[in-house]
Amino acid sequence: MINAKLASQSHSEHQTIVKLSETVAFGGDELVIIGGPCTVESLEQMQMVAETLSTAPVQALRGGVYKPRTSPYAFQGMGETGLDVLAKVRSQYNIPVVTEVMSISQIPIVAAHADMLQVGSRNMQNFDLLKALGEAGKPILLKRGLASTIEEFVMAAEYILSHGNPDVVLCERGIRSFDNYTRNVLDLGAVAALKQITHLPVIVDPSHAVGKRELVAPLAKAAVACGADGLIIECHPEPEKSVSDARQALSLEDMLSLVDCLKPVAVAVGRSIAIKTGVDVKSAPIFCAA
Ligand code: PEP
Ligand code: MN
Repeated sequence: MINAKLASQSHSEHQTIVKLSETVAFGGDELVIIGGPCTVESLEQMQMVAETLSTAPVQALRGGVYKPRTSPYAFQGMGETGLDVLAKVRSQYNIPVVTEVMSISQIPIVAAHADMLQVGSRNMQNFDLLKALGEAGKPILLKRGLASTIEEFVMAAEYILSHGNPDVVLCERGIRSFDNYTRNVLDLGAVAALKQITHLPVIVDPSHAVGKRELVAPLAKAAVACGADGLIIECHPEPEKSVSDARQALSLEDMLSLVDCLKPVAVAVGRSIAIKTGVDVKSAPIFCAA
């Protein structure tokens, strides 16, 4: 029994819809797919990503500008210059953008540039940040802590809701376990449980869950099959050259193929994906294989 007052499902039919823009919303029949690199590296990079992904049913772009890196010597993100890149691409391609906010002091500037503020796994229990995000005036993408229980995850959402922001989307991104062949373990049981316990939209990040590009597609399909309301997937114009998380980045072409292959899975579970791309799915058999 989870002691959440606002995040708990009080009526089996109730589903919160979180609007990202006039035309994009989480929690309805249509899945929301977010794509983009781990890190914003340049305007040209993000324009190439937006140019390609806007031909597909990818409804939002991702890209970190404040990066929580394991090593303090690793690239920490472009910061405000990166926010300007996101804002430019957002208006040029008329596509919403999602980016991480790591501290309270970053909230105003990130909220001024992005449509949705991501709380990274490492900050899921940064309670002061969660409280402040209650007043951010923007939807929040709350990622599950790398070693958090479902209850801790729901209660983290409760912090944001109880401080005034009803627009919270939960994101399962894998949890730590003993096996390190995959980066984390995607907890699809948590996705199913969260859909029952809460009324909030739940999306899945297969990229950080599995950490290897060749395993992203099967997990994405499984996530849709088990009821996720959307996906956030890392992709890059030159995946091997990504400044962070290169091993899990899809090429833009593979991202388009993957989105196409998700359509029948979505339909099978009563959801939809608007297919705009003319990608030849036969050219990507590993993506469409069962
Ligand atoms: C990310 O989305 O790039 C990221 C750092 O994710 P997580 O917080 O889930 O590790
Ligand atoms: Mn990443």
